[in-house]
Amino acid sequence: MVNVRDRGVLVTGASRGIGRAIAREFATRGARVAIHYRQNREAAEETLASLDGKGHTLVQADLAVPEETRRLVHDAVSSLGRLQILVNNAGIWEEHRIASVDFEEWRSAWETTIATNLMGPANVTYWAVRHMLAMGSGGRIVNVSSRGAFRGEPDGPAYGASKAGLNAMSQSLAKALAPHGIYVTVVAPGFVATDMAAPFLDGPEGENIRSQSPMGRVARPEEVARTVLFLASEGSEFLTGTIVDVNGASYLRS
Ligand code: NAD
Repeated sequence: MVNVRDRGVLVTGASRGIGRAIAREFATRGARVAIHYRQNREAAEETLASLDGKGHTLVQADLAVPEETRRLVHDAVSSLGRLQILVNNAGIWEEHRIASVDFEEWRSAWETTIATNLMGPANVTYWAVRHMLAMGSGGRIVNVSSRGAFRGEPDGPAYGASKAGLNAMSQSLAKALAPHGIYVTVVAPGFVATDMAAPFLDGPEGENIRSQSPMGRVARPEEVARTVLFLASEGSEFLTGTIVDVNGASYLRS
């Protein structure tokens, strides 16, 4: 039985998609959740209204702006009292095929993607860890990566690189922080049925994508959320440094 009762949890990108499912999963188990959003307050409020339990809050920041990450963690701590679990979920996918974009598009896609998917989590993690260290009672960090870090992302190489960087960051921090009782893990989903994946899943490639898994479908956001919950719960400490694939055997790495 997973236990996250009364934990303070910050979930980035929780106004929709996988982040919303993660927020719900934690709330159902009695945690208090800070729902982070960038622009869409209305959607974030819908997430908030859908959570079980009490003590949840909304926090806003653009994660690609380093200065905003400090305020984000400060706001979450002010509302929750204490932050014990951080889930770095927010991310973007932008197409930038090397053979067809001009240099400006190429450079811009790399800068935006790395700023959001890698620097964002690195900076939020910095401030969250400072808080966890000051509290002195450990913590959990779960980072949402992607199958693309291993399989390659030919149409979005910066995305693959950002997620490979996130994996490497997580494993380095697992080593750095275990002596402080802070444990760092990763989930690496394949396609998940969210708004981010909708253009692919609803398009001409949809059937091909579903058939990548022998289960003939893509993941549901709740399946990723339950894995995050497990990794963040009591008893999972020794999994620190691990990367858990949630891809229905669509890509098996050795
Ligand atoms: P989504 O687009 O539905 O949600 C992503 C969230 O991140 C949004 O709420 C968005 O506002 C937020 N975000 C993006 N840039 C931001 C910024 N600069 N500042 C603050 N917030 C920002 O996507 P999703 O499918 O729920 O994806 C969640 C995570 O799962 C992402 O990290 C994504 O890379 C990863 N992932 C998704 C899939 C998939 O098929 N959907 C597959 C593998 C990994």
